[in-house]
Amino acid sequence: MRITKQYITQNDCYKAGRKITPKGCMIHSTATPGVMAEDFALRWNKPGIEKAVHFFVDDEDVIETLPCEKGNTWRAWHCGRGDRGSGNDTMVSLEMCEPESLGDRTYFQKVYDRAVELAAYLSRVFGFGPENIICHSEGYIAGIASNHADVMHWFPLHDRTMDDFRRDVERSLAGPEAGEDGTAEGGTESGGRLLYRVQTGAFRDKVNADALRQRLRADGYADAYVKAADGYYKVQAGAFRSLANADRLSAELEEKGYETYIVNGNA
Ligand SMILES: [Zn+2]
Repeated sequence: MRITKQYITQNDCYKAGRKITPKGCMIHSTATPGVMAEDFALRWNKPGIEKAVHFFVDDEDVIETLPCEKGNTWRAWHCGRGDRGSGNDTMVSLEMCEPESLGDRTYFQKVYDRAVELAAYLSRVFGFGPENIICHSEGYIAGIASNHADVMHWFPLHDRTMDDFRRDVERSLAGPEAGEDGTAEGGTESGGRLLYRVQTGAFRDKVNADALRQRLRADGYADAYVKAADGYYKVQAGAFRSLANADRLSAELEEKGYETYIVNGNA
């Protein structure tokens, strides 16, 4: 399984930098139809956003947005608290991204399998068992989370329960592929894929490019950078596999008064 590390360094929770020793894993889903992992990693990478999770999972990507390694796991902010404390202090968190329609069976099967694989990987890393993997609504019942329904507003539409999920994690741990699978890779930015980027300007003079990048960063686009190519200093933000996501960022930036166009590859 490929895990892309893309830390949300501008996020308040990231900046707080608190650490935990994970004793289990909490599964969430985003309740935001059609917004995929790479998009969330960008949306939550802003000052003033307190909520944060360790992983976003969709049908194609697993993105680690807070450090989550043995001996170096940051405290996320994903489940509030209940009568018996807060799962934020003890649980690794993963958000399953929801498709446009919760009934989408093809998407569900893919994101479910990926979440199982990730949960199995985490239980190997941290040494907790499938019984320590719960969803947000189970966390509420256990008294360590706020009153949310996820993921039980979604799984039953596809005849799945959290017990099925735990059983599938157990199967994955026992399977022949256990051990060779589930290796975290430090994700390269592109992984050899063609990525779409949103360009907001191209200047002969580097000072102008730097000024525009500063403005973008001040507006919360921490990943904005200046790239020298073809005699220009180009200011770009984002790195997307899907054109639709690049379009979203482009529209968002235009709304804030930037002029944008989308480039791909090494443009
Ligand atoms: Zn939740």
